[in-house]
Amino acid sequence: MSEAKTLGELKKSGVAVLSVREEMRKNLVHCLESNKRILPGIIGYDNTVIPEIDNAILSGHHMVFLGERGQGKSRIIRGLVSLLDERIPIVAGCEINDNPYKPICRVCRNKLAELGDALPLQWIDRDHRYAEGRYLADEETIHYSLVPRTNRGIFAINELPDLTEKVQVGLFNLMEEKDVQIKGYKIRLPLDVVIVASANPEDYTSRGRIITPLKDRFDVQIRTHYPKTLQDELAIMEQEAAPVEHRSRKVEVPRFMKDILAHLTFEARKSNEINQTSGVSVRVTINNFESLISNAEKRALRCKETEIVPRVSDLHALLASTSGKIEMEYVGEDKKEDELVEKLINRSILKVFDQHFTLNSLQKIVEYFNSGWGVEVSDQMASQDYLEDIKEIPGLKEAIRSLKIQESPSLMASATEFVLEGLHLHQKLNKEIQGGRVTYGNSK
Ligand SMILES: [Zn+2]
Repeated sequence: MSEAKTLGELKKSGVAVLSVREEMRKNLVHCLESNKRILPGIIGYDNTVIPEIDNAILSGHHMVFLGERGQGKSRIIRGLVSLLDERIPIVAGCEINDNPYKPICRVCRNKLAELGDALPLQWIDRDHRYAEGRYLADEETIHYSLVPRTNRGIFAINELPDLTEKVQVGLFNLMEEKDVQIKGYKIRLPLDVVIVASANPEDYTSRGRIITPLKDRFDVQIRTHYPKTLQDELAIMEQEAAPVEHRSRKVEVPRFMKDILAHLTFEARKSNEINQTSGVSVRVTINNFESLISNAEKRALRCKETEIVPRVSDLHALLASTSGKIEMEYVGEDKKEDELVEKLINRSILKVFDQHFTLNSLQKIVEYFNSGWGVEVSDQMASQDYLEDIKEIPGLKEAIRSLKIQESPSLMASATEFVLEGLHLHQKLNKEIQGGRVTYGNSK
């Protein structure tokens, strides 16, 4: 079916023109009827956030999403666009996407009176019906441009409590009375806009940050949260990280290394040394994943290896990508931040190690080192150089095999470091660090 070019054609086609709320509701009903979940790509919210969004849309409610940083609030809000029709008709040339049946701007109303069914139409994509008021610094943004231009669409406001009182009042008038001020004159412009906001819960509830009438206008508060399981954290990490296909070599990240990353973030979210009011974003995990691969990529390039495989000795690269994204509870020197991250990394390695091994099962390895042998590792050492050492250590090959990795030199090197570091953290092996080189040896 071709798209109507005039109001007359539109009437004949029988295509209904709905309000944004009706339109979102209609498309959600289709999804529910066909058991299709809304918001593809949003992970970990199937039983918590998504059912609440469903209800809010069915009810035509204004929503505010409350959550700490990096819980996908903006992503959810942007994803609501998928509930709009792919294309809708507007009065051709109208800056505020006027409904051809009921235009609200003067120019279009005059045109309709003059042309009737010959009123020319234009169709717009749903992507053009979404705007973000990230920097609603002053009233002008609300009144003159951004919001009216989102007429018949979705307007998102990130961090609602950051708006000045004046802007909040403007927003309230818009939501409540559909009043817009232009150059000091109040005019009634009954805009059809769905306003969706986000806020940090602490800021939202603290007195004086949001004017009460505006708060009352949001019918539902939907609480977001961090991934409840490591799997969800990892799934988001893999989905959001820069694609590994763009790297110079094939990337192979062993599962135990990924688990260490996810545990690190989980540990950080439990730590009382970190400010949990602002939170620990999923972006910590995502950026750590990227840093870890980058550090391993440098080695692969220098050593001319065919695979990029991160190891424990690459984990120092996480200090830079973690530090900036957490807020220490007690502000001290920078060094303290690094110390904390290191402590959390060690805790994570131990957790993952204990999921795979018992100390008893690695007794032979410990005995070997106790008899005076040592092994040197570093993030610059070629994987091939590990293989000689591995052969000598009784029990190590079996331990590596139990991790169910392919037996390529790079993966074996990574597994070796994981086993040795785990034993060290259990105080079974000594570890000496000199320059970038690490020597594991006798603990006695
Ligand atoms: Zn118009």
